[in-house]
Amino acid sequence: MAIPRYWRNTQHYYNLIGSKCKKCGRVYFPQRSVCADDDSAELEEHPLSREGKILTFTVLRTSLSDPSKENTDVIVSEMPLVLAIIELEKGVNVTAPIIECEPEDIKIGSKVEAVFRKIMEKGEKGILGYSYKFRLMR
Ligand SMILES: [Zn+2]
Repeated sequence: MAIPRYWRNTQHYYNLIGSKCKKCGRVYFPQRSVCADDDSAELEEHPLSREGKILTFTVLRTSLSDPSKENTDVIVSEMPLVLAIIELEKGVNVTAPIIECEPEDIKIGSKVEAVFRKIMEKGEKGILGYSYKFRLMR
């Protein structure tokens, strides 16, 4: 039995698995099937580091809720929310929330590690909320 595509994709997000071009070595996350640099279709799975550093971040202090209330399952309950761009390895950045800390503790360059908590899925297609979050390394 084939595994549904959305489930496979969920696993890739959950495990932070990118793809790496066999020709030039460029790493992509989320995965790509064709390299943007050389059009090679020879890409292989490439597990990413679960540790990274913060390149930049922003602190959201107002609710992200949808006024229509249709997307209540994607409301982020933890406020304020710190949303950061994290470099996992050279050239591979992800945007994710930083949890379990005060915004004042976060600095550009802070080391963070991935944690996998709630995965929110919505509907049959399994649209993801945030599947990974990061916290400061102590
Ligand atoms: Zn390439």
